[in-house]
Order: sequence, then structure tokens, then C-alpha cells
Amino acid sequence: MPNIQDVLARIDHEKTQTLDELIELLKIPSVSTDPEFADEVVRCSEVLINKLRGLGFTTESLDYGGFPIVYGEWMGAPGRPTLLMYGHYDVQPADPIEEWRHPPFEPVVEDGYLIARGVTDDKAQMFSHLKAVEAILAERGSLPVNVKFLLEGEEESNSTSILRCVREDTEGKLACDAVLISDSDMLSPQQPLLYYGVRGITYMELEVHGPNRDLHSGMFGGAVANPLNALSKILASLTDAQGRVAIPGFYDDVRPLADWEREEARDVPHDEAEYLADLGVEAGFGEEGYSTVERVAMRPTCDVNGLWGGYQGAGQKTVLPASAGAKVSMRLVPNQDAAKIAELFEQHIRQIAPPGVRVEVRALDGANGVLIDTEGPIVEAAMEAMAEEWGARPLRVRGGGSLPIVEVFADQMKVPVMLLGFGLPGDGPHSPNERYAVEQLYGGIRSVVRILDRMP
Ligand SMILES: [Zn+2]
Repeated sequence: MPNIQDVLARIDHEKTQTLDELIELLKIPSVSTDPEFADEVVRCSEVLINKLRGLGFTTESLDYGGFPIVYGEWMGAPGRPTLLMYGHYDVQPADPIEEWRHPPFEPVVEDGYLIARGVTDDKAQMFSHLKAVEAILAERGSLPVNVKFLLEGEEESNSTSILRCVREDTEGKLACDAVLISDSDMLSPQQPLLYYGVRGITYMELEVHGPNRDLHSGMFGGAVANPLNALSKILASLTDAQGRVAIPGFYDDVRPLADWEREEARDVPHDEAEYLADLGVEAGFGEEGYSTVERVAMRPTCDVNGLWGGYQGAGQKTVLPASAGAKVSMRLVPNQDAAKIAELFEQHIRQIAPPGVRVEVRALDGANGVLIDTEGPIVEAAMEAMAEEWGARPLRVRGGGSLPIVEVFADQMKVPVMLLGFGLPGDGPHSPNERYAVEQLYGGIRSVVRILDRMP
């Protein structure tokens, strides 16, 4: 586009309407994990379909067995590249409801922040994409590139439908030259981030069974293996004193960090004292030789997430429980295979389980870590666009969480996947009083305009 000032001016003039429209979207309690809200999730998808249709997009509600996937395309720029924009319109449950200062689905603006469930994750960010396209179309009547929207309603449950949708897209409906995802944060309003990798996960559950009933520890203790004792030994054997995972073979496929990655990790501002104070702990913990920034996103982990067995009530009960159990998750890094890690975990448990107990091991979930190629002219253009808006080029970082959709996009489509988000560190996705800075909303819209404008 010759000059985008007119588009930016329109975004500026329409700030109030933009905010009001987002507030309407936030009022829909599109909680995908709770069947009670199923109708609301569907209603949210309909609002988005109508929105896209109103913008002149060809739309479709895609059914892969779960909640509708909102699909829309505008292909009026023949010969130009196609950008696919992904987002999700479902939200986390609002619990614990009593910790909200305002009802979670009655958005309010407080000190420059919009407060509502799902505002940063991901409605406001997804909405930035829609509004950017709307502003360009209103000003110019056409877009500088072809645009496809793919908005799912199951990101907070399991993304089952969209994973199928992308994997089964044999006729190339979703074909594109790059994917843009805004479902992440920036370091500050002056420092955007480009996520070039996410961790994978292997989630296991184990149960240790001993005697056929709970026993009196005074009558049987010492002669019968105690499942809780056995479980404790098993869990203690999973990591060493530094938190390094002690399962044989666990690190075999871990891709070592490149020099540039360690350098850029050092460039991420991090105040360890502040970090620890915020968490209320006296000392950090983790694998020797790695910084906190590296530990939380670039190295694999093993954590017990839940533990049960025996007596949990007040006072004492001298019981030797019949069974005990634990949930264990391992965050994985690129080149580790989630299924292989599940096998290694199970083998290790079988190896060390003491005699007298029977151990059941189940894999609950698995996703591989991903590294995204951040080279090439499209990513470079997006980096420049972000720099223009926020005053600094995005730092390249890895995310510590898991995002299965990224792996599928990168794998199936073989195009750059750009994880450029507009949230801020204090937004509290999934937490009570989730928020989003109103200025980030407008900055996000302007960023997407600049990205579309600069696409080579
Ligand atoms: Zn999200």
C-alpha cells in the first residue's frame, strides 16, 4: 500500500466503537470445557461468521465433530501471497468466581485495562486481526494480500477439531504462505516478542497397588509393601537434586541450544531477585548451567502435578493404604518425541518398582516440542512491521508451554508460523481478573495493518 496513514487514522478515530464491539464479544461466555456453556460457544462462532461475512469474506462454519471452526477467506489479491490468521474464540472457565472484582462476563475498563474472562486469551488478540482487516477494507476497498481466517472454539479443551481440520486439508483450502498467531505476550509495550519455539508435553498417570484393602499399620506395617512408600521412592527417582530428569535416555534426543539462542536468552531482561520475590520463594531451583530464562522454556522438565493415597483428614490414622497414585508431566523440548518419552518413563518405573506392589502407568496426553523457522522475507517483514509500531524489533524467545496447533501448522503446511502476540506479562490468562491493556488493543490492530502492508 502506498501510505497507510489513512488506515491508521481510521483506527484512531474508531477507538470507542472498537472497544465497544470487543466488549460485546467478551460478554459471550464461550467456555468450551463446560457443557453448560455449549450454546454460548456456538453463538460466539456465529457472531464471528457474521462479522467476517460483513467484511466481504466468503465464510464457512467447519464441522469436525466438536465446536464450529470459523473459516473465512478474502482472495481478491491474485498473484499476491496469502496470510492465514489463526485465533481462538473459546475461553477458560471463570473459576474461582469469588476472586473476580467484577463479574467475568461483564467487562469493565479499570485503569486502562479491560477486565474480562478470555480478553487476553485470546479474544482481544484475535479481534485485532479482524479489526485490522476491517480498517484496510473500509479505507481502500481491498487488501494488499489474500487473507484467510481460521478461528477455533476448542483451544482451551483440546483443539481436537482444528488438529483434524489442518491434518485432513488435502484439497488445500488452508493453503497459505504464512500463518500469523496472536495468542502470546510481549515483554513490555516497548519490547515485542517473536516466539520461535514451544515445548511439548508428556503427561502420565501412575497408580501403585498393594494389599487388597487398607491395613492397620500396627498389625501389618513392616511385612507388607506400602504403596505410598513405593510411590514416593518412584517419584523421587525421576529427578536428581538439581531437578535434572533421571529417567535413562530422557536427554538422548534433546537438541542442544545454539549459540545465538543462548545469546538472545541473555538479552531478555530478567531480574532474578524480583522474580523470586514475586513468587514468595527464597531461592531459585533448576538444572545447573542454565539461566531461569532458559530453564522455563528451553530445557525439559519433570514435575509431579498431583498425588493421592492414604489418610488426608485431620489428626492421625495409622493406615497402610491399598493404593496410591500420582500425575506427572514432563515438558519436552525440540527433537524429543512425546510417545518415546512416555515409553522411557514406563520402562523406568517398571525397572525400579519395589517387589510387593503392582504399578499401572498410563499416558494421558502428548505433544512434541516445536522449533519454528524464523528466516525468510515474510518473517523479516513482520519483524520490521512490529519494530515500526513498538519501537524495537521483537526478541526471539521460546515459550515454555505447549501449543499443539503450532506443530501441525509447521508440519503440514511447511510455511512460516509467526507467533506474534500483543498481551503483557501481568494479563493473567486463565486467572481471575484476566485483563488486557486497552492501548495494546489499538497497538495490536495497527501492528497487523503494518504486517499486511509490508508482506513481500
Ligand atoms: Zn489462548
